[in-house]
Amino acid sequence: MLTVTKFGGSSLSCATQFAKVKNIVLSDPKRKIVVCSALGKRDKNDTKITDLLYILHAHLKYSVPYADIWDMLYTRFVGVRDELGIEYDIEKDLESLKAELNKNISQDYLVSRGEYLTSLLMSRYLNYKFVDARDLLRFNFDGKLDEKLTESNVKAAFNAYGSIVVPGFYGAYPNGTVKLLSRGGSDVTGSILAKCVNASVYENWTDVSGILAADPKLVSNPKAIKEITYAELRELSYMGASVLHEETVFPVQSLNIPINLKNTNEPDNPGTFIQNECTDTSNIVTGIAGKKDFLSFNIQKDHMSNEVGFLRKALSVFEKYDVSVEHVPSGIDSFSVVVGGASVEKCRYELVTDLKKELGANVSIDDNIALVAVVGRNMAKRSGVCAKIFETLGAQKINVKLLAQGPSELNIIIGVDSKDYEETIKALYEALVR
Ligand code: ASP
Repeated sequence: MLTVTKFGGSSLSCATQFAKVKNIVLSDPKRKIVVCSALGKRDKNDTKITDLLYILHAHLKYSVPYADIWDMLYTRFVGVRDELGIEYDIEKDLESLKAELNKNISQDYLVSRGEYLTSLLMSRYLNYKFVDARDLLRFNFDGKLDEKLTESNVKAAFNAYGSIVVPGFYGAYPNGTVKLLSRGGSDVTGSILAKCVNASVYENWTDVSGILAADPKLVSNPKAIKEITYAELRELSYMGASVLHEETVFPVQSLNIPINLKNTNEPDNPGTFIQNECTDTSNIVTGIAGKKDFLSFNIQKDHMSNEVGFLRKALSVFEKYDVSVEHVPSGIDSFSVVVGGASVEKCRYELVTDLKKELGANVSIDDNIALVAVVGRNMAKRSGVCAKIFETLGAQKINVKLLAQGPSELNIIIGVDSKDYEETIKALYEALVR
């Protein structure tokens, strides 16, 4: 039994957090592979090491003096080492990095040093072997992960050393140059490693005790979700719930390795389990999330329903402008095409003109649409959920502009005016989840 355990920046912001991590790791002998992000914020006014490194890179690139930023970085790393009281000549590593700073330094390489140095600190502190992610995660030149090579590298390192610390967020191209993942990518590193060793669980430690059933900025004290399927998580994340890097589930999902989201500051809380099958049926709705700033192109033409290929023609206009379509609610002689506002910022008028020309239809735009997703695997084949939604929104005098339900019955999407967005989430949470 083996656990891959990843700690985010807030779990690694200072020596006190490092101590919590050490307790967590050493309290369970299955925690043999540890993935670290870079030192995170100590409080809300602090700056993440990764952000400092991006800023440092911009200063170097535009030849702006950078001594202050370098000092901040240097002081933070040396400070953590001193507070931990470990034997590690981090000044030497920092000095050799300083010697590499120049106008043309690769951004990926420089930014990856946050995870690199943080993991070196953690490996010394835990007395686990440091293994550079550059030697494990290998990418082809097209940026695709070389899964076979990565798997054999990870297995070899694990078999050789038994207990390892690996920096998250980067890997290397075939020639060894560093390739950074996208922001928040240490989550993905952990998932890739978990897949390579077929871990029994992938633990992802942050500063919240699991996924919340709604945005705490909108709903007071939302419940934490105990169990959620990968598919439900995908629906909630797509609709704006910020939980994990969106690519995190893919590596582990193929082997059905559960992801356990846990809180470093509250380690006894079981957190959230994300997996293919969930047994908990106590909640019909798992969570509610939403996003503003959609708009709908309303297309109407008499006898449209008799014209074969009408919808295809309309959608190909959106394709021509490279606009991704979210929903297509339809009537008999009209339908609307709902898209993200940002995706049509530069082409909305061209789209209307082309739609009119191609279809000979009336086209109007409805701005300010917010979409709210009610997500729950336990909603499938159950009557009454829509009734409850309508009853709740009706009582709040909130007008439903559109409604969509996927064939899996995993989610019900409700479109409302943006001004009603917050109220919709609050009301639905109280009625369906609380
Ligand atoms: N440190 C990186 C970031 O801030 C990667 C990570 O934390 O996952 O995006």
